[in-house]
This record gives sequence, structure tokens and C-alpha cells, in this order.
Amino acid sequence: MRHELLRERLRERRWRITPQRRSVVEALSGPNLHLTAEEIFARARAVVPEISRATVYNTLRELVEMGELAEMQIGPGPALYDPNAVVHHHHLVCSGCGRIHDIHPLGVKHLYLREEDRDGFELQRVEVVFHGRCRACEESEDT
Ligand SMILES: [Zn+2]
Ligand SMILES: [Zn+2]
Repeated sequence: MRHELLRERLRERRWRITPQRRSVVEALSGPNLHLTAEEIFARARAVVPEISRATVYNTLRELVEMGELAEMQIGPGPALYDPNAVVHHHHLVCSGCGRIHDIHPLGVKHLYLREEDRDGFELQRVEVVFHGRCRACEESEDT
């Protein structure tokens, strides 16, 4: 069973770590993280001020290619990076503040797309996005 924490998985793989790369990995440590490359760059730069944007982008690409970081798209904005790349999960998105939660909805395993609805596509995976409003947004509306 692979470790749920990106940092631990990279240690097990003996991934060559530099202070720059460490700052990127640290930016991606925590639950329910779904960050844009620019957000990761800002977090990494707070730790290693001399880090370049290219280093951050190259590191992200490498981690995605290694299968240690999931790249995802919700809506029309930039791609989001999700360090929870081991446990297959789906997302719950707040339409008020954009907060994204990892969820494990029931019944998704049996979602099925009929042959005639696939338009010749070979299916690779299923991603389900639930949209709603988080408690904080609901409460701020009430006041
Ligand atoms: Zn919200
Ligand atoms: Zn996620």
C-alpha cells in the first residue's frame, strides 16, 4: 500500500530532493489541497525566495509524470494539482468560495456509459464533481 502523503512517497522512491524541490513538495502537503501552479509557486517562494517559476513548473510536471501528483481541471480555470494521487476520489466544490473537498461518493463505481453514448471513446476513468455551497458561505449569506 503506497503512502498517502506525497512527501513520504517521494522519500520511499528516493527522489532526489533539493531545497527548491522540497519547497514545492511542502507546498503540496496537507489535506484537501487543490492548488494552481501559481499558488504553489507563491507558497514555494515564501520558503525559498530565489526559486524560479520554471523550476516549480518543471517539478510539477515531473511529479505528474511519476504519477505522484494528480493534475485536474474543474471548470474553465487553470489546472489544479492534487497531492492525493494514490486514493482514487472525487470532488465536492463550493460555488461560493471555490473550496474543493475530496470525497468518496457511494455508487460511483457502478456508473456506466452505454456503448451508444460513448461516441467511439475508449474510457479511461470517471471523475464526478458535486457542486454546492459550503457551510461558511451559507452562514455568511444568512447574516
Ligand atoms: Zn464556500
Ligand atoms: Zn482531490
